[in-house]
Amino acid sequence: MHNSTPVVFIYTTGVFLSFALKDLIKSANMKLSTVLALMSLPLVIMAQSHDPVKIYQEPTGDGGFQYYAQNVDLAPYQLEINFGELNNLKSSVSLPYYTVVYPGEPIALFSLQPVSSGSTSFKSGYRLTMGDPETLADQEFIYSLPFEHQQSYTMVQGANGEYTHQGKHAWDFVMDEGTKVCASRNGLVVSVKEDSNQGGPDISFMEHANRISILHEDGSYADYVHLVRDGALVEPGDQVLAGQVIGYSGNTGWSTRPHLHFQVYQAVKFGIQTVPVKFRTASGIVVNLEEQQKYQAIHR
Ligand SMILES: [Zn+2]
Repeated sequence: MHNSTPVVFIYTTGVFLSFALKDLIKSANMKLSTVLALMSLPLVIMAQSHDPVKIYQEPTGDGGFQYYAQNVDLAPYQLEINFGELNNLKSSVSLPYYTVVYPGEPIALFSLQPVSSGSTSFKSGYRLTMGDPETLADQEFIYSLPFEHQQSYTMVQGANGEYTHQGKHAWDFVMDEGTKVCASRNGLVVSVKEDSNQGGPDISFMEHANRISILHEDGSYADYVHLVRDGALVEPGDQVLAGQVIGYSGNTGWSTRPHLHFQVYQAVKFGIQTVPVKFRTASGIVVNLEEQQKYQAIHR
């Protein structure tokens, strides 16, 4: 009945590839054993290989470094790079550095230039959060209910619901495990989790929710949560149409009974904000779904 923001938050000590071993030792202020370990890597990248955005530095030849980022994911990401230590180096931009990186080729970010001759070193960290806070959800858009045409399900916890939806625009529809879940709006599947078979009544189960997240053309996202294990019929990169069956409901994650949690959100700075949704139902367009009411889906 709840879910978490996709956030990557990592601190690293600044290390970087250098073509000259002595430069690497001098610049990074590292021990030789560390350097030798790094020599086996093709390129020293701050980010882990599975990260959606890869961040890396290249020596500029004058003792400085140029920073780059490449978004290898499907959605834009907010990126902040900060420096816990910056010794004898000056940044070309004010710090912490902030930008939004869209999927595509590597882009140049900023550079660090030496202040004077002599050794340089730094410690840096970064954080990443999915979404571009400059894009605002179109709150006039009419969504389909997230289940099959002409099917009806009871909505048991709505916006600002007292159990797990406080301060959120989200809707829980009670349905048996294995019920077909449909896309409420056209979009691009940006993340899928379907490997969990764990669910339970407290927050410790939250991370075990299977889910599908879909990016819409206005930059908002929809989450379809608590799906059954192996219950996704789509994968990241798939374009889906409203009404298309995308998976099967379940009871994984923080959940006390089989149901589908649906929400739409837009990015804010290093977070998300769920937004109100207007639904098309068999009895017309509904602005505020009411708890304990049964709603019938009409797709078109
Ligand atoms: Zn919920």
